[in-house]
Amino acid sequence: MNLHDIGWNDRLESLFAPFKNSNLFPARVTRVNRGAVTVQSEIGATVASIAGRLSPDGELGQPAVGDWVGIDPSESDGVVRVILPRSGSLSRRRPGEGDCEQVAAANVDLVFVVESLDRGPNPRRIERASAIAWDGGATPVVILTKLDLCDDLEASIGKAREGAPFVDVMAVSAETGEGIDLLAGVLVPRSTAVLLGPSGVGKSTLTNRLLGEERLAVAEVREGDRKGRHTTTFRELVVLPDGACLIDTPGIRELGLWLDSGAIGAAFPEIGEAAGRCRFGDCRHETEPGCAVLEAVELGNLDPARLASFQRLRREAESLEMRRDESKRHEVRARERNFGKMVRQALKYKNRG
Ligand code: GDP
Ligand code: ZN
Repeated sequence: MNLHDIGWNDRLESLFAPFKNSNLFPARVTRVNRGAVTVQSEIGATVASIAGRLSPDGELGQPAVGDWVGIDPSESDGVVRVILPRSGSLSRRRPGEGDCEQVAAANVDLVFVVESLDRGPNPRRIERASAIAWDGGATPVVILTKLDLCDDLEASIGKAREGAPFVDVMAVSAETGEGIDLLAGVLVPRSTAVLLGPSGVGKSTLTNRLLGEERLAVAEVREGDRKGRHTTTFRELVVLPDGACLIDTPGIRELGLWLDSGAIGAAFPEIGEAAGRCRFGDCRHETEPGCAVLEAVELGNLDPARLASFQRLRREAESLEMRRDESKRHEVRARERNFGKMVRQALKYKNRG
């Protein structure tokens, strides 16, 4: 398999340049298991374990689906030694471990915000998912599925636009195939898209439809485990016949995703535009005098529901950030304790000597 067919490009080429003369080879993560990853590379699909210490600053942490990694083949199964810096990623809070950030999908260009037309799109969910996409450096596109079950498309599109007035909305049916061509049109070769949305809206069915007849060939890999047995697993990153990659991972199906208050503005450009005329640079558009945003609402130039959504998402992100800062402080204190221990130990040796 050619690396370009799974998204390799000039950016990655130059990032990998320092490893050109090492024994590392580049590969893309298609699935993450405990302590190991499934990767796709020029030699096909293989399993590699993850090196204990990936990056000393811990910034890149663990590999995620969609990551480009350098694999060291000199050890048994191959070992992930480096993770190349990401462009566009979706993060979420790690369940059960406070509010640590965990990258759920990396090197993402498009986020398909999937909602179904039988239940009707949920504008609040669309708003949140779009904000998360912009926040992660990717472009959201709203996909309304089950078009064959819809009797008032105009009304549903209107509902979807309520949540994301500046985002493209497409309606498709995986059942009849209607709209699939249009969707395939935005999935340009070498780009990577992620499916985001609650279960039952038709993400798997859509993936199958886009894969067509090639599903079994590309979505299933036979992996040899360490005992030499072969098991069949589904990859979470699949390559579509036209050359785009599609990520559908359980890890990002729920919307418990990371949100950055600074980036929420991207989902509300009309508010940002008005905010430029507020009297105070740090105006929160709540009760401040000379607030151009409140004025725009009063004059009927800005939808009050959008301002309310903006405030809601910002509050949510800010409370998350507060908790994140709190856990950072804990981390620093723990490190200081460890350092103290090290110093004491060093002094003990010195006193002995
Ligand atoms: P996921 O949980 O988001 O992956 O949803 P699934 O792909 O499993 O689909 C949930 C249900 O919706 C299944 O019973 C599908 O057959 C059905 N479904 C998916 N897409 C369509 C569609 O375009 N039209 C109709 N009528 N049903 C669909
Ligand atoms: Zn203001």
